[in-house]
Amino acid sequence: MLKGKIVKALSGFYYVQDGNSVYPCKGRGNFRKRKITPLVGDNVSFEMDENEEGYILDIDERQNELVRPPIANIDQAMIVASVVEPEFRTILMDRFLVLIESKNITPMIVLTKTDLVDDEELEKLESYKEDYEKLGYTVIVGSSKEEDGLLGITPYLEGKTTVIAGQSGVGKSSMLNALKPHLDLETNDISKSLGRGKHTTRHVELIEMYGGLIADTPGFSSLEFQDLEYDELPDCFPEMREHGEYCKFRGCLHNKEPKCAVKAAVEEGEIPSYRYEHYLQFLEEIQNRKPRY
Ligand code: GDP
Ligand code: ZN
Repeated sequence: MLKGKIVKALSGFYYVQDGNSVYPCKGRGNFRKRKITPLVGDNVSFEMDENEEGYILDIDERQNELVRPPIANIDQAMIVASVVEPEFRTILMDRFLVLIESKNITPMIVLTKTDLVDDEELEKLESYKEDYEKLGYTVIVGSSKEEDGLLGITPYLEGKTTVIAGQSGVGKSSMLNALKPHLDLETNDISKSLGRGKHTTRHVELIEMYGGLIADTPGFSSLEFQDLEYDELPDCFPEMREHGEYCKFRGCLHNKEPKCAVKAAVEEGEIPSYRYEHYLQFLEEIQNRKPRY
């Protein structure tokens, strides 16, 4: 029995990568009883029969899965935001961060288009960078239009399965294309794939880059908190995970409760007030959501 990872699904075949080889496989085996279908990103057991035809026998338990694009076992999501055109907005960044944290995926932040701003604006940006780094997030700042402008990203790709997120026009495909000249491996035309992702949601492929795998279709296209319960929200904010431990009440929502350590940290300036305001805004949004049934 062989082990590998599904890197592509197309026309009834799952392409399973094991080391440097990719085996086209059909689904067959135990996992069917569990009513699951293989997803790109799945770690699977498979075998090749005497005719060199591959069969997936079983699927390992998933660490997580996304619906759009359909992909399993994502380690990391790279949130791409531009500093201008469109303008950088912390509320949108925080929304992406919460959605990604809620799926148990590690976020990292890439700010693009720095070639379009002056020193004053870059300084403002630097303070946001510091805020997000203080929360424990990796922040890379650069430009796709400058030689090696975003190469700082590459060490973070190694050994990980990464999905890219970010609103349209921020420079996601430009970023991947800027990284491409340095690839030692032949890849597909990423920008074409990213463009196509807008129209056909089904197809996704994992592309090998700098010792890791990147999904060629961006994720988190819906920015609604549909799958999130209000009491799960504090856990999606690293600063609330940290300070919330010292609140008087267990399950403190850091809202109207007395003796709240999170509110104290906001007052003392340890937590940026915009982060806390966004938290309250998201909390209200989730609490006011109409029940789905
Ligand atoms: P996507 O929708 O997120 O994939 O964004 P694109 O990569 O298609 O980029 C949108 C527009 O921004 C295009 O016109 C790009 O040429 C431009 N762009 C992307 N990155 C940069 C950058 O770092 N600097 C500048 N000046 N323009 C950029
Ligand atoms: Zn609290």
